[in-house]
Amino acid sequence: MSNMFEAKVLTVHHWTDRLFSFTTTRDTSFRYQSGQFAMIGLQVDGKPLMRAYSMVSPHYEENLEFLSIKVQDGPLTSRLQNIQPGDTILVGRKASGTLLTQNLLPAKRLYLLGTGTGLAPFMSIIQDPDVYEKFEKVVLVHGCRQIHELAYQERITDLPNNEFFGEMVSDKLAYFPTVTREPFKNQGRIPTLIESRKLFEELGLPEPDLENDRFMLCGSPAMLKDTVAVLESFGFKEGNMSHPGHYVIERAFVEK
Ligand SMILES: Cc1cc2nc3c(=O)[nH]c(=O)nc-3n(C[C@H](O)[C@H](O)[C@H](O)COP(=O)(O)OP(=O)(O)OC[C@H]3O[C@@H](n4cnc5c(N)ncnc54)[C@H](O)[C@@H]3O)c2cc1C
Repeated sequence: MSNMFEAKVLTVHHWTDRLFSFTTTRDTSFRYQSGQFAMIGLQVDGKPLMRAYSMVSPHYEENLEFLSIKVQDGPLTSRLQNIQPGDTILVGRKASGTLLTQNLLPAKRLYLLGTGTGLAPFMSIIQDPDVYEKFEKVVLVHGCRQIHELAYQERITDLPNNEFFGEMVSDKLAYFPTVTREPFKNQGRIPTLIESRKLFEELGLPEPDLENDRFMLCGSPAMLKDTVAVLESFGFKEGNMSHPGHYVIERAFVEK
């Protein structure tokens, strides 16, 4: 069996001139855990051009969904942004990633902190009933520059109506969208909102402590660096497969 499969594009949605999402068919043998990423791409000049992408779709979904940046001169996304329903993309069969609840010590509350396309793995996690079984409260924080970049707002706020796990969501999920470049109900960068305790005050939740709070981070290199510094100042320690901890991080992209 090849290490990748061909997936047919089913739908494409352009959120802004820098952001789009799309769904594809899924090979039945492709398995992943909610929060993981895989390599996806296109055949270019007879060769696969692949990049890491988090699945937006939870592990049990029949189809796959991805949220993508459009980089004007980006080798992949300058092309990928033009895909249409019926086109074919390539998907690597190996899923990986650190944004897994088993890499965290048990606790009451889970904070999912994402900026830009760093929302993608958290969309998968909040649509997975497992997370609500493990935590009493799940807080999704999505940071962007502008309001129109806050993708999936409607889907998130509509989750309590999900016929299978809506009840759990309505009790447990809190959504905190925040922007940095225009007036909005919530404003400011994620590390600043944590350091100032404003995030917790606004949500009516206690200040974070080592016993009760866990964090997953997915964002730009600057967001990760600054947020990790704040979390470490509270005494939180990073977790991984062999040593579960208080927080885990994944890069939303690599600066080249
Ligand atoms: C673990 C992991 C998961 C990822 N998941 C996603 C995802 O779900 N969705 C997604 O769009 N991208 C994701 N990326 C980034 C993705 O792999 C590519 O970099 C992106 O698709 C652009 O590809 P490119 O070939 O067009 O440009 P590249 O040559 O890969 O990137 C060019 C430049 O564009 C900028 N850039 C790249 N990706 C982003 C981004 N997502 N947001 C803001 N600026 C960016 C960076 O400055 C980068 O140096 C992920 C990266 C990693 C490492």
